[in-house]
Amino acid sequence: MDFKNLISHCKEYGFIYPSSEIYDGLSAVYDYGPYGVELKNNIKQYWWKSMVQMHENIVGIDAAIFMHPKTWKASGHVDAFNDPLVDNKDSKKRYRADQLIEGYAEKIEAKIQKDVDKAKEKFGESFDETMYRATNPRVLERQQEIDAVLKRMNDALRDGNMEDLGALINECGITCEVSGSKNWTEVRQFNLMFNTQLGNIAGEEGKLYLRPETAQGIFVNFLNVQKSTRQKIPFGIAQIGKAFRNEIVARQFIFRMREFEQMEMQFFIRPGEEMQWYEYWKETRMKWHLALGTPQSKLRFHDHDNLAHYANAAVDIQFDFPFGFRELEGIHSRTDFDLTEHQKLSGKKLQYFDPELNENYVPFVVETSIGCDRMFLAMISQALKEEKVPDADGNESTREVLKLHPALAPVKVAVLPLLKNKEELTSAATEVFNTLKKHFNCQYDEKDAIGRRYRRQDAIGTPYCVTIDFDTLENNTVTIRDRDTLEQERVKIEDLAAKIGPRVNMASIL
Ligand code: ATP
Repeated sequence: MDFKNLISHCKEYGFIYPSSEIYDGLSAVYDYGPYGVELKNNIKQYWWKSMVQMHENIVGIDAAIFMHPKTWKASGHVDAFNDPLVDNKDSKKRYRADQLIEGYAEKIEAKIQKDVDKAKEKFGESFDETMYRATNPRVLERQQEIDAVLKRMNDALRDGNMEDLGALINECGITCEVSGSKNWTEVRQFNLMFNTQLGNIAGEEGKLYLRPETAQGIFVNFLNVQKSTRQKIPFGIAQIGKAFRNEIVARQFIFRMREFEQMEMQFFIRPGEEMQWYEYWKETRMKWHLALGTPQSKLRFHDHDNLAHYANAAVDIQFDFPFGFRELEGIHSRTDFDLTEHQKLSGKKLQYFDPELNENYVPFVVETSIGCDRMFLAMISQALKEEKVPDADGNESTREVLKLHPALAPVKVAVLPLLKNKEELTSAATEVFNTLKKHFNCQYDEKDAIGRRYRRQDAIGTPYCVTIDFDTLENNTVTIRDRDTLEQERVKIEDLAAKIGPRVNMASIL
């Protein structure tokens, strides 16, 4: 299903709406609708259960969005949380310089791919792609150009050399997609933090930031949490909450938003043990994704070329989104950078006394950080399918179905009386609904023909439809229809909850 259809499906079925749409929306800000909020809550619950409640040595917090402004000085965000910005003077369109250059490299890569495809067609079965890529002179030349451009870009980004990024854009002859011109401004650093002002203090002193990550709320509370829970190192602190970034280019729906939600966990460890924990969390987080039934082919690790100012190792878990493999989650070895900087700026000790080593130290940190909205996009884009299925009359028809993992599905069970105007059926169905809704998020639906009701449930990803028919009145049994196999099973009403429970509860994936 293409990306446009996915976005309209999300709107039509109450998953995601553009923010303040009656005023033509607000760029890169979105609202979650009735099914969207259920799916998002389920994603958060899966994360919280597996990260916090399944680990005796990980606890949660919920810190405020506003923090003392010195927090962001210490963390490096005031000075270094920048993206390189460049404007096209003719179209006035704004770009991220690194994304322009990456786009240029992707175009060359596409040319290589075209050559590869042509050769594949020409040579058929006997074609050896690896060999071709390693020996074909034109491919090699193009690959060398990609490597050289990306290396120069990464060096410039690392050194904060905006001049060279500008020179690279000019030398590559990159044009604006709107005006078609090469008339660029200089590249300059743009800070991504939103700011606002405290009511009772004027000027710089009262300047507040909307947090660009949730992690700092964890760092500043490190000792509070450690003391009040008597956790021993290694232990973790987790948090789910909103973060804000004034992204220069925010496209691709909920992939890059200006207001979004993060699920972050900081794991505090002994200095020197970071690589072992880094590997542990890499593996653990990948397993978390795979447990949802996401095929391994849709997930991959991607090591960072450019380490952030706070990290000594960093990897992304990338997901194969409709627009290609992109970052879904980051795992970072943050050393003792944050705690040490907070110690310096606050003048307060942020150390841990290790009873086994009989010594004090500033712990090292390995972080896992995933965007809740990106996870939502990953799940919904992977789940949405258009399928040919037999309809009630045995003819073939097309259905849109969301094949979400049942544990994530917004509605677990739809309760459907076969006919709307038969009181016996609707009252029996209402009784079933009232029982089941204590166990699962359920929906009662009696409008339209049963086939149309099934389609509506398919479109929102409901794994089970329970139908109440005339046999129900005779023998207290109902049919359960499975969203994916379309098989129908006859089950006693009293057995319903026990039958459905194990298939839709979170426990199945923990
Ligand atoms: P990117 O390179 O895509 O800008 P990042 O490396 O800046 O992401 P981190 O700072 O590592 O991202 O943030 C951790 C996670 O938060 C990301 O893996 C992503 O899932 C999510 N995230 C970051 N920025 C956004 C955004 N603007 N909109 C939605 N989710 C985001």
